[in-house]
Amino acid sequence: MSDVRNVIIIGSGPAGYTAAVYAARGDLKPLVFEGSVTAGGALMNTTDVENFPGFPDGIMGPDLMDSMRKQAERFGAELVTDDVTEVDLTASPKIVKVGEDVYRAHAVIVATGSQHRKLGLPDEDRLSGRGVSWCATCDGFFFRDQDIVVVGGGDTAMEEAIFLTKFARSVTVVHRRDQLRASQIMQERAFANEKIKFVWDSEVVGLTGEDRLQSVRIRNRVSGEESTLEATGLFIAIGHDPRNDLFRDVLDTDEDGYLVVQHPTTATKIPGVFGAGDVVDHIYRQAITAAATGCQAAIDAERWLQDQD
Ligand code: FAD
Repeated sequence: MSDVRNVIIIGSGPAGYTAAVYAARGDLKPLVFEGSVTAGGALMNTTDVENFPGFPDGIMGPDLMDSMRKQAERFGAELVTDDVTEVDLTASPKIVKVGEDVYRAHAVIVATGSQHRKLGLPDEDRLSGRGVSWCATCDGFFFRDQDIVVVGGGDTAMEEAIFLTKFARSVTVVHRRDQLRASQIMQERAFANEKIKFVWDSEVVGLTGEDRLQSVRIRNRVSGEESTLEATGLFIAIGHDPRNDLFRDVLDTDEDGYLVVQHPTTATKIPGVFGAGDVVDHIYRQAITAAATGCQAAIDAERWLQDQD
């Protein structure tokens, strides 16, 4: 079939674009579905990225993604700003649909990322990257000597809180219950840390600040009482949802919905289907690690295609 592509890449974050660069330089002429609303991925919603190697002065998230996009295009990747709506990965060749339009490919790389859970507050998006963050590893450094609130009660929240004490003046963990969900060891570490305070049975109900976050409004779920915490940082650690909707019926996922790959490769259980970036990774969740697995997925796809000849 002449219209069968070598490889279709679904996703345009660091994983998808890096896969596109490698696949294009490997002469596979990849077709990339970038997504409509979130083309460019998670970094389109942030400001400074200071930990992506090669940018000693940092780079704005959207500029980094724009450069990756241009790099993929330069080598001949075909980029389409559409959402994939359906896939049949067990067909041969594999089928990828955008509405009524049908595309076929021998190999498919899934790089659809994950969505951090939001609190659902009106000012949350506006203050994202301006005091509100979902990633201590990414942004903790910007909060030296500041007062920070962490929302959540699981292992990730405790990890973030403990990590943030390296920089912050104080870290206040706001949790909606009267005890943590985190593992015993993480709880002990957090309780032993003098910089961490806990506010129990409480939820964040409002954020204030014009250009940057200034304070966090909380409500006690038992008494209904509201109070204000002066804080210039809010780290939301209430979980992530991998974007697996199109794949979870055919590909293996772990208990939290992340795609399972055959480490150290990016191969899924379906031959010719590879997974990369945050839709697989629930541990590191960094641009550089997503890019790295995008590279691996392209190389894995290239070798798999060679073996089919
Ligand atoms: P994503 O970047 O999430 O991209 C997923 C892509 O899939 C998107 O392009 C989306 O449009 C596409 N997609 C999804 N579904 C479909 C579909 N059905 N059809 C077509 N396309 C689809 N990391 C750092 O290393 N340094 C930082 O400073 C940093 N700051 C961050 C700040 C914020 C606010 C956030 C949220 C994250 C930050 N991260 C940072 C983490 C980093 O952004 C992620 O680890 C990385 O973007 C994951 O890359 P990815 O390619 O796996 O997924």
